Amino acid sequence: MASKTNKKVTVEPYQHTGMVCTHCGTFIYSRAGHDFISCTCGKCSIDGGFGYIRVLGNEDDYVLVNITLNVSKGTLYDDWNYNQQKYGKYPVGKWPKEFQLNIINAFNAKYNYFKPSALEKIKEHASKEQKDFFKKIVFDQKV
Ligand SMILES: [Zn+2]
Repeated sequence: MASKTNKKVTVEPYQHTGMVCTHCGTFIYSRAGHDFISCTCGKCSIDGGFGYIRVLGNEDDYVLVNITLNVSKGTLYDDWNYNQQKYGKYPVGKWPKEFQLNIINAFNAKYNYFKPSALEKIKEHASKEQKDFFKKIVFDQKV
């Protein structure tokens, strides 16, 4: 039954795992079981939805990032199934605010730095807010 009514549904926050590409800086996560999603430059992909995580790419090409989602799995499934593309893929400059700290911390834990190509993207595309955030968090690099 189709309904135009928008009901506010409260979703209990839950954990998920996404990845950020060290080359292009795109942040991605799989929204459903068969949602195979790739970063902007195509060097890495993630698949499996919430049952398992399947990662494609060389280990050096990505960093896994644990996030907390408060969007329902049904909404994410529909987003994938109907090709709405509101969730699951965020180029540099479009990272959701609530994931930024997780992304930077995951990077620092693995590398302490972004690759030059990702930094170029950040310089080019990040919002002022994100640039300020990078300056605070990322050490030894000028953004
Ligand atoms: Zn990439």
